[in-house]
Amino acid sequence: MMRERIALFGGSFDPIHRGHATVAKAVAEQIRAAKVIFIPAKCSPLKRLSPHAGDDDRFNMVTLATADDDAFDVSDCELKRPAPSFTIDTVRLFQREYGKETAIHWLLGADSVKDLVHWYKIEELIDECNLTTMLRAGYPPPDFDSYESVWGRDRVAKLKRNAVTTPLIDASSTEVRRRLAAQEDVSDLLHPDVVAYIREHRLYE
Ligand code: ATP
Repeated sequence: MMRERIALFGGSFDPIHRGHATVAKAVAEQIRAAKVIFIPAKCSPLKRLSPHAGDDDRFNMVTLATADDDAFDVSDCELKRPAPSFTIDTVRLFQREYGKETAIHWLLGADSVKDLVHWYKIEELIDECNLTTMLRAGYPPPDFDSYESVWGRDRVAKLKRNAVTTPLIDASSTEVRRRLAAQEDVSDLLHPDVVAYIREHRLYE
């Protein structure tokens, strides 16, 4: 019998956009994950600027954008932990909660693969969960082979096995923030409830 799978989707979600929800849904279907749990990060040690919106606002926007889908869940576990927050700790937390029979997938966009070498305990992370790479519009597919000398053949083979082809959605939080600052329309990029939240709380002005 196949192990139950859950997918964890970490990110700044500053704000969450249609790209996030669309690729998460596509991955869940492809790997037959029981659910996708969105995990807003406190702040990424690899991003130069802290999130533009506060923790509560980012969490609330993720909650609004995922509320329509029973397969989507949101966790504030990283927001509650003191920074910096490491992915390996989050993966271990969920593994303990769900038990070892559940396979944990950690989702990341292809653009994030180049950063993996800097991630805390990356080799243990590759070993302990399934780092699941999603192709992203505007970025080349990751060249996993070039990491063989760093992580070894088995880890690279595992990363390749876990890569998934998702719809290429040309959306980014950077573009959303740019448009909002320029007072341009963002309705094609955001869930309507997120647009309303941003307007009500005057975010990203
Ligand atoms: P920013 O533009 O501020 O860098 P972002 O749009 O990349 O933000 P994040 O919250 O940083 O959004 O992304 C969380 C995760 O989702 C990352 O692994 C990122 O690669 C992935 N991701 C974001 N947008 C897409 C997309 N359109 N297609 C595939 N993956 C995506």
